[in-house]
This record gives sequence, C-alpha cells and structure tokens, in this order.
Amino acid sequence: MENKRKRLGVNEYFMKMAILSSYRGTCLRNKVGCVLVYEKRVKAIGYNSSHSGTEHCEEVGCCMEGSHCIRTLHAEEAAVLNLEKKHGVGMEAYITHEPCLHCHRILASVGVETIFYLNSYGDFSKQEKEVKSLLDCRMIRMHNIEIIG
Ligand SMILES: [Zn+2]
Ligand SMILES: [Zn+2]
Repeated sequence: MENKRKRLGVNEYFMKMAILSSYRGTCLRNKVGCVLVYEKRVKAIGYNSSHSGTEHCEEVGCCMEGSHCIRTLHAEEAAVLNLEKKHGVGMEAYITHEPCLHCHRILASVGVETIFYLNSYGDFSKQEKEVKSLLDCRMIRMHNIEIIG
C-alpha cells in the first residue's frame, strides 16, 4: 500500500528532534531540547538537566536565583558538551526555547550562525541590548518558527 504521509521539511525534522529531546529535561520550570546541525546532519543533541551526579529538580525542587533555576545545565550547554569536534562556522541550532545570553555566547563560540527556536520567553528585556550587539557582531540569524502537528 502506498504511504501517503507527507515528508517532513528539514526545519520540522530537526525541531521535532529538539522537542523529543526536551522530554528528557528534568527542570520543573521548563523542559528544553537543543539539536546542533552541520551540513544537514545532526552533530549533537542535549536537554536541560542537573550536572552529572547531582540530584534533579524533579527530586529536590529547583534552585532559584531570581527567575532562573541554576541547578540545571542548559540544553544548549549539554549539546555543546556532546559535540565531538568543532565544525567551524555554519552550524545551526534548533532549540525548543529562545536561548539565554549565556547560551548565545556558547553557541556563537562553537560556530553556530543560525538559531531556530520555537518558544520565546519574552523576559529578556534587560539582556536584549547585549544579545542584539552579540548577534550583530557574530551575525547570528534568529528564526522563530512554528511546527504544525
Ligand atoms: Zn530547575
Ligand atoms: Zn541558556
């Protein structure tokens, strides 16, 4: 029988991987997934969770500092740590959430040029200026995309 299922687009394919990865997240505040792609191939994947060997937010609660939980390693950090080698500029990041300033820096430093994200936190006003100047100097392109289904 003919399979009429529509082929996934590239952005959808990688973003769905990021969403799947986010299901492994352990922070109570947010579950975030990140996929690093180079030349249309997945190079690393990560989700937010506690540092190796420490308790998870799910077990002992979040450790809040202001509006951020500082117990977890961010999904972007985890993905970068999983990266076996640097690929130079031209990497793409697919993230379920808009990255924080810290993760912007980390992604930029491993050569990420384009960031696709699904959800915006909308509370980065203080950081906005700094993020903008970082984006301007590293020319990271940001795309807020939508996934249907
Ligand atoms: Zn947490
Ligand atoms: Zn972050």
